[in-house]
Amino acid sequence: MPAQFIDGKSLAETLRQQVGDRAKRFLSQHGRAPGLTVILVGNNPASEVYVRHKVTACEKASIVSELIRLDASCSTEALLQTIRSLNANPNVDGILVQLPLPGHIPEKTIIEAISPNKDVDGFHPVNAGALFTGQPCLKPCTPLGVMVMLDHQKTPLRAAEAVVVGASNIVGKPLAMMLLQAGATVTICNSKTQNLEEKTRRADILIAAVGRPGLITAEMVKPGAVVIDVGINRLASGKLVGDVDFENVARVAKAITPVPGGVGPMTIAMLLQNTLDAAESVAHAQSLT
Ligand code: NAP
Repeated sequence: MPAQFIDGKSLAETLRQQVGDRAKRFLSQHGRAPGLTVILVGNNPASEVYVRHKVTACEKASIVSELIRLDASCSTEALLQTIRSLNANPNVDGILVQLPLPGHIPEKTIIEAISPNKDVDGFHPVNAGALFTGQPCLKPCTPLGVMVMLDHQKTPLRAAEAVVVGASNIVGKPLAMMLLQAGATVTICNSKTQNLEEKTRRADILIAAVGRPGLITAEMVKPGAVVIDVGINRLASGKLVGDVDFENVARVAKAITPVPGGVGPMTIAMLLQNTLDAAESVAHAQSLT
């Protein structure tokens, strides 16, 4: 039987509407809309597209968004100064610095400058540490979106074998941690992993987050597995594909995400959700003082 198609686009749309309803309630309760500020340094074409999508999604969800553009040659200090002023601005609930940054600006320094309670990307070490220790925190959007998709699919996670291929700080590692906390037995693979197929074939839930088209073939997938493709790769033909050989894996898997239209739209929905969560949690803390 062909795999069920996991429609991230339509789930993300539903979630975005829910965020929009929450944002309107927030406005009526607090007299201001939740706010997200995106900082774009330079004009990397891919970043321009991502930033545009984020700003448009905010507008549709009744979140006030501001885009701050800084020149590619701007100094680390100028960017830090911008972040400090946003940290202090009570109308800004979320701050997102679009990555990658120009080579002369150290990403780590910039991420660490963002106030953890406005860190809607969930990249700050305080949030990463809280995720690691199972404390409430702002979580990275892409892995969070994958978890929401699995939950929506009613995929059993407790005692399931989950294999995450890719171990970056923004996708693979946090996702592995979230799966572990949900009770899965997790294997994380990286570029040094030997016999990748032997690991992936164990997976009830297989996540590909590498950035290599066609890496996961049908032979590497256990029949009946749920396959989530985080990868986004642009082929020479211009076609957008994931890391999974979709057509052939779909004959083996129980359920599979497409690229595009799978994890990608969920990432933006989670960014909006994180902004609302950040706004509500600060408002709640203020109401207690
Ligand atoms: P990344 O930082 O480049 O990390 C890639 C990871 O894959 C690394 O851990 C690397 O191992 C591992 N890897 C490389 N070759 C491998 C192989 N042959 N077998 C097993 N593991 C291998 O990438 P990323 O930022 O996590 O992104 C991964 C993919 O997801 C990209 O295609 C990116 O565009 C996409 N992405 C999509 C979204 C979305 O919204 N859908 C969001 C973020 C990223 P080492 O650690 O050993 O180097």
